[in-house]
Amino acid sequence: MSLLTVTSVQPLTPRMVRMTFTGDGLADIGTWPDQQLKLLFPKPGCSAFVSESPDVGVWYQAYLAIPEESRPWMRSFTVRSLADDVLTVDFVLHGDSGPASAWAARAKPGDVIGRFGPSPDYARPLGGADVLVFAGDETALPAIASLLELLPSSQQRLAFVEVADPMEEQDIPGVRWVHRSAGENLVSVVTAVEVPSSVWAWLGGEASAVRALRRHFVALGVSKKDIEFSGYWRRTFTQDDAPTAEDLAEAQERIAALSE
Ligand SMILES: Cc1cc2nc3c(=O)[nH]c(=O)nc-3n(C[C@H](O)[C@H](O)[C@H](O)COP(=O)(O)OP(=O)(O)OC[C@H]3O[C@@H](n4cnc5c(N)ncnc54)[C@H](O)[C@@H]3O)c2cc1C
Repeated sequence: MSLLTVTSVQPLTPRMVRMTFTGDGLADIGTWPDQQLKLLFPKPGCSAFVSESPDVGVWYQAYLAIPEESRPWMRSFTVRSLADDVLTVDFVLHGDSGPASAWAARAKPGDVIGRFGPSPDYARPLGGADVLVFAGDETALPAIASLLELLPSSQQRLAFVEVADPMEEQDIPGVRWVHRSAGENLVSVVTAVEVPSSVWAWLGGEASAVRALRRHFVALGVSKKDIEFSGYWRRTFTQDDAPTAEDLAEAQERIAALSE
């Protein structure tokens, strides 16, 4: 792992802030679709550093060996872009209930956090279907935006992003914005759209919405291996809380779908 230093903080919308970082090792990271990484946020008066080891097992043992009171908070994020040794990450500001969101709301150039990843070991290719469907909430927007940018212009795609209200929209062509302020939600909007069973789907965001959307596409006849899905956050649970029985069942299904 290495440390990242904030170099700029730019509000994108009232609830989303874009940050750029420099740090060791960024030049060695390749590019692939949907690059996920772990960011480590220091507890007050403590360091975000864990261990130099690039081996995930060794690194995680070192992480767990840090006494809880000084162990940094670890949360998952997405590379919005990585170019010229500058890493860009977009953070949702969902309030002070979470250490990552609280940190992002106050961050300033010079602040330091930790980074583990992104690792090509977790790279997943985009599907080769005629139509690709992307659906998620604002936490999945960095991933959806960077995935859409990778697609050739000839690729048919449908993209749905649920956000609080129109102020949260970003300039991303072709997105059907779903506004909670208008009483809409991602699941009802996406399930109302007719799509063929030959689509490939990418789903990310609040776990129960992702679960409902995955069930919808499976019921439509979409093969499980053609549905990339991930619960990005859980209502009332933090990322430190243990997985629920549903989370574990889903993880097993994901592993099973990989071997289909
Ligand atoms: C692979 C992956 C990639 C991700 N990429 C991004 C990204 O690029 N940008 C980004 O902002 N997030 C991203 N997320 C989501 C992010 O990791 C979670 O929102 C995480 O919970 C934030 O940590 P926290 O410390 O702020 O809150 P936590 O301590 O985890 O949670 C505290 C409380 O806040 C609630 N909460 C958490 N997230 C939200 C939310 N978005 N809206 C409302 N309530 C919430 C929880 O239910 C809990 O009650 C990603 C998640 C995954 C798994």
